[in-house]
Amino acid sequence: MGKTLFDSPSFANHEGVHAFTDEKTGLKAIVAVHSTARGPACGGTRMWNYASAEEALEDVLRLSKGMSYKNAIADLEMGGGKSVIIGDSKTQKTPELFHAFGRAVDTLGGIYYAAEDVGVSVSDIAEARKVTPYVLGLSDGPEASGDPSPVTAEGVFRSTLVVARRLWKQDDLTGLTVALQGIGHVGGYLADKLHAAGAKLVMTDVNTALLAEVAARTNAEIVAPDAIYDVKADIYAPCALGATLNPQTLDRLTVKAVVGAANNQLATPDIGDILFQRGVLYAPDYVVNGGGIINVAAEMNARLSGGAYDPAWVEAKLARLIETFEEILDRSAAEGRSTHLIADAIAEARIQAAADAKAELQRAA
Ligand code: NAD
Repeated sequence: MGKTLFDSPSFANHEGVHAFTDEKTGLKAIVAVHSTARGPACGGTRMWNYASAEEALEDVLRLSKGMSYKNAIADLEMGGGKSVIIGDSKTQKTPELFHAFGRAVDTLGGIYYAAEDVGVSVSDIAEARKVTPYVLGLSDGPEASGDPSPVTAEGVFRSTLVVARRLWKQDDLTGLTVALQGIGHVGGYLADKLHAAGAKLVMTDVNTALLAEVAARTNAEIVAPDAIYDVKADIYAPCALGATLNPQTLDRLTVKAVVGAANNQLATPDIGDILFQRGVLYAPDYVVNGGGIINVAAEMNARLSGGAYDPAWVEAKLARLIETFEEILDRSAAEGRSTHLIADAIAEARIQAAADAKAELQRAA
């Protein structure tokens, strides 16, 4: 027998994988539910022109597991899941396609909630919402959580303050230089916060018009995209692409800490160990950028309770996220292990504890 889904290392421990097609709209989608131990699985929907169904499957399996970890580390009552729609988001999107996708998600009966991701916009999610309650990330109505970027930026900013306190024994960022890569939705808000806290900013982006605007209001120095790794800075804040911590950039970076919003910053996990050995404090990406998913979770709370989006709940969860970040740094120092490994261990322990409690309840019933 050839290689099957069950042989893929990415399949490990997934509760379910669901494939959907709709002939009329051309929908081809896969929903992967990694874990519902902590609550309904929640994670974005990616629309991408995958070269093959196998490639789409690998991606959705990997991403859904990542969502279990991210939701657990943010201490949300949500499990991990993800979905992919195979297709070109520039040419193949129609309202009918998202109705068909919504109907597919609806058949799962609420074990999975979909949200925006690469190639899928708020308006696409709003189309799916017409046929199912199991989507999140709306822009209108009392439950709506809107743009998550300001909350994401706030989480990254507070994490930067934690790092400044630990490494430089100061409560603000005066005298520190931050090399900021990407000043889009998150990076733009982050730039304002870092500037207000006294940091000197050196920034880059491929969108030169936006870059000029953000640099002017934050008194920042501009460098070319590739020059960001060579900036003599104290902190590197990746807020654009993934995998920028890789063998090529490692020897160019002279910073003492990496704190940014980008997903999947480590090209491979061993880069996290190398940073640790070199004495560079790496703030695990899925920990410090958890503000966005916290904001989305507030919409799920509102939906389930019949109430409205509650900013006070978001603030409490954000404060809890920063406590977890502090715990990761404490344990990393005490155990002599890299921060990314400690973060994974905490997430795994939280998922396991929820799974054990659920199993116990089932036994008792
Ligand atoms: P965005 O698309 O608004 O911003 C990204 C910026 O990076 C853009 O301005 C783009 O021009 C720039 N960019 C692209 N290629 C670049 C390059 N080679 N060099 C420098 N700049 C480049 O995205 P965003 O919502 O601000 O998210 C930024 C990162 O944070 C992404 O990795 C995203 O996955 C992650 N993230 C975002 C959120 C959120 O709430 N938006 C939450 C968690 C994680």
